Amino acid sequence: MVDIGLVVLDKDLRIRHWNRWMQLHSDTDADKMIGSLVFESFPNLKQPRFINNCKAVLTFGSFSFFSQKLHHYLFPFKPVSSFDSQFDFMQQNCTMGPLRNEDGSIEYIFIAIHDVTETVNYEQKLMEMNLRDTLTEIHNRRSLEISLKEEIERHKRYGHPLSMIMFDIDYFKRVNDTYGHQCGDFILKQIAETIENNLRSHDIFARYGGEEFCCLLPETSIEQAANLAERFRQKISQKPYRYQDTNIDVTISLGVSTLNEETITAEMLLKKADTGLYAAKDAGRDRVVVEK
Ligand code: GH3
Ligand code: MG
Ligand code: MG
Repeated sequence: MVDIGLVVLDKDLRIRHWNRWMQLHSDTDADKMIGSLVFESFPNLKQPRFINNCKAVLTFGSFSFFSQKLHHYLFPFKPVSSFDSQFDFMQQNCTMGPLRNEDGSIEYIFIAIHDVTETVNYEQKLMEMNLRDTLTEIHNRRSLEISLKEEIERHKRYGHPLSMIMFDIDYFKRVNDTYGHQCGDFILKQIAETIENNLRSHDIFARYGGEEFCCLLPETSIEQAANLAERFRQKISQKPYRYQDTNIDVTISLGVSTLNEETITAEMLLKKADTGLYAAKDAGRDRVVVEK
């Protein structure tokens, strides 16, 4: 009645015990399984790691752990359907060890199978939530900072260009003051959606602060980034924003930076983009300034 799978294999790796839990999830009765080679029903186990671990159990009495993080599962079962799983197969942590006779000799191997699908699902969802902005559903600042570190490392290794666009909504306080905070939120979502739809899949687009956004652009030269920024500027200012029967005009100011001989760290790249952004504000807003 235990809530784990229990399997016993003999020296030839034939199944000798197949508990209720295994019957339930494999949808096969124990009498059908017992006596058959474990590979007959589970050809995926015919791999050196599994076989060598079995040998080590029989020879040395050692224990092995098959972590979900590395292997996902040993037995390809359907996930239990009572919750929404993002996995096609039940995720399993499995332990393998010896069953000893009274004289200490080893004839049998046990495998214990734990279903960890639900926990792993929650873990992944939490991790995902931790890296997303709740209002716009794009990346948040933490996520950007993680990606920025990774991309700078990649740049150091391969020397491919890495550019950044930072932008901020013009006179956004006025939108909130005139039409209300909810209208401001609506505009933020619309802008995030417009930009997201105009980026490539490996670009990282994040809400950096309240009404400040940042795009990290791998494999993109400063000229390409400047062109993209200009396209964003036009898209945002041309898009009609309609909130409760009122048309609202929205523009953004943008700063563009790139990694080069003098801009070498994440902080410098951010600082340069920010300097460009504030230069664009000073010059009258609704424009792009490139900081070389
Ligand atoms: P500028 O052109 O110089 O950027 O002017 P601004 O009014 O946009 O700049 P300011 O920094 O004075 O105002 C930013 C405003 O953004 C103030 C704040 O209420 C608003 N804001 C920040 N986060 C949110 C949010 O999540 N929702 C809404 N509705 N407003 C926000
Ligand atoms: Mg602003
Ligand atoms: Mg601002």
